[in-house]
Amino acid sequence: MSTVPFAVEMHPQRWGDPAAAVGLPAPALELVDLAFGLQRLGSPAPATPPPPALGAELLEELRALVGREHVLVDDATRARRTRGKSTPDLLRARAGDLSDAPDAVVRPDGHGEVEAVLRWAHEHRVAVVPFGGGTSVTGGLAARRDGFAGLVSLDLARMRRLLAVDEVSMTATLEPGLRGPEAEALLGRHGLTLGHHPQSFEHATIGGFAATRSSGQSSAGYGRFDAMVVGLTAATPTGSLDLGAAPTSAAGPDLRQLLLGSEGAFGVITSVRVRVRRAPEETAYEGWRWPSFGAGSEAMRVLAQAGLLPTVLRLSDEAETAINLADPSSIGGAEDPGCLMVAGYEGTPEQVRTRRAAVAAALEGLGGAPLGPEPGERWAQGRFAAPYLRDALLDHGVLVETLETATFWSGRERLYAEVKRALTAALGEGSLVLCHVSHVYETGCSLYFTVAARQGEDPVAQWRAAKAAASDAIVAAGATITHHHAVGTDHLPWLAAEVGEVGVRLLRAVKAEVDPEGILNPGVLVP
Ligand SMILES: Cc1cc2nc3c(=O)[nH]c(=O)nc-3n(C[C@H](O)[C@H](O)[C@H](O)COP(=O)(O)OP(=O)(O)OC[C@H]3O[C@@H](n4cnc5c(N)ncnc54)[C@H](O)[C@@H]3O)c2cc1C
Repeated sequence: MSTVPFAVEMHPQRWGDPAAAVGLPAPALELVDLAFGLQRLGSPAPATPPPPALGAELLEELRALVGREHVLVDDATRARRTRGKSTPDLLRARAGDLSDAPDAVVRPDGHGEVEAVLRWAHEHRVAVVPFGGGTSVTGGLAARRDGFAGLVSLDLARMRRLLAVDEVSMTATLEPGLRGPEAEALLGRHGLTLGHHPQSFEHATIGGFAATRSSGQSSAGYGRFDAMVVGLTAATPTGSLDLGAAPTSAAGPDLRQLLLGSEGAFGVITSVRVRVRRAPEETAYEGWRWPSFGAGSEAMRVLAQAGLLPTVLRLSDEAETAINLADPSSIGGAEDPGCLMVAGYEGTPEQVRTRRAAVAAALEGLGGAPLGPEPGERWAQGRFAAPYLRDALLDHGVLVETLETATFWSGRERLYAEVKRALTAALGEGSLVLCHVSHVYETGCSLYFTVAARQGEDPVAQWRAAKAAASDAIVAAGATITHHHAVGTDHLPWLAAEVGEVGVRLLRAVKAEVDPEGILNPGVLVP
């Protein structure tokens, strides 16, 4: 069993490592001024959560379960466990609203302590919010507290061990609190990798990946996180589950799938057994130019259906390509940069060489123009830095947020057009709506939208209206309300349209069975 030291804590009102915060570089400031008019709102004033509401007696009982030092009620810790990192989360925290703060942060160590905390919470009707890295962008950490004796954040930060490695089966068993880089560092000691690199990689955790069905930027090569999981353990208020006796099974419906994507509403995932791969000896990135988003998307479909996918494959539409060039003159189509595709390859030198050559031949045949390694390497180097820019943009009065969806290839064009139209209409003239194809499959793909607009009087309401319009458009186009960000509280109003009335009843029935008091993440996932 091996573990790693504690990770950096994020700022309650910003993304990421406080030491890595950035300002807007001069070309970006110029772009902002040109597009939205420069506003200087500056850094937010520090905020304080409301006083904790959990009684002294209950807190003492909790301390007896996990140890005195692992029940934290100080303002700074509670502030850092308030909601997640969506733009509305940040805007509300920036405005001083920490009203969803937990009464206490409890840090159990091991499955047994998690079980004990859940039994205690069940008995006293205390709401419990499982907390991994705190990077949720769909309100997955903003549980309801009305009708409960209090609300605790169940922080999995002490559960950060690599529990087992099976190099014959190529699996590893990981605890839920390990963040992306920590899991990779522990696996790296065995020459292994998970290959799961979402943009939130540096702060999100193994348990969070499983609980949200996360998808990483190398999904074309490594698959989604839920596809990597072969086994898991979970604690519920009424008992525990240990699932995954074999890689696949015909023993009824796959109950592992009930926990994957369950967002803390059905139980706390206390370990996952995941498929691992040999760590790559070589990585290579490159760019391709396409005359249009449609042409590049078609090429992706052909690659996916020919079984010819690189490890990373993404395609920006015309607007996103232009903005990423950070060239003010490219706004409004003064220049035509076309659409940028990034392809990345990982493996042995031989695997990289042969796959790259086969993909290149296919892409050239489909009308793509090779741009060489530079655009791909620039993307790879900057990919975890981009979220820091959101804070800098918020400081300058620019509303920036993202949303994602997925559909079958036959519905891609309609989905793209309708979501873009809905967002543009809701955010008004002067707003920017950018999109890229972020994940591809044989049968379809995921579209990831980024918007930027001048912040109005009430930017939270401004975004909520745009998000509702986009969500309505997604449902009308017959696509999914979320490909990898999960349901949380934000997508809940659109879930029934996707899973149907019987689907909603099934979710409620599972919840009632494992969590009869409804203490687990109330208001999240289950309508
Ligand atoms: C800047 C940014 C970029 C992002 N990029 C991506 C991306 O590329 N791909 C992607 O898939 N997502 C992305 N996300 C969304 C987010 O990072 C993922 O949803 C991630 O999987 C959440 O992991 P976490 O550890 O932070 O979980 P948290 O945010 O702590 O929790 C998420 C949900 O899971 C529950 N939960 C957490 N741990 C457990 C557990 N052990 N057992 C049961 N329930 C649990 C929580 O209660 C909550 O409902 C991004 C978010 C941000 C802010």
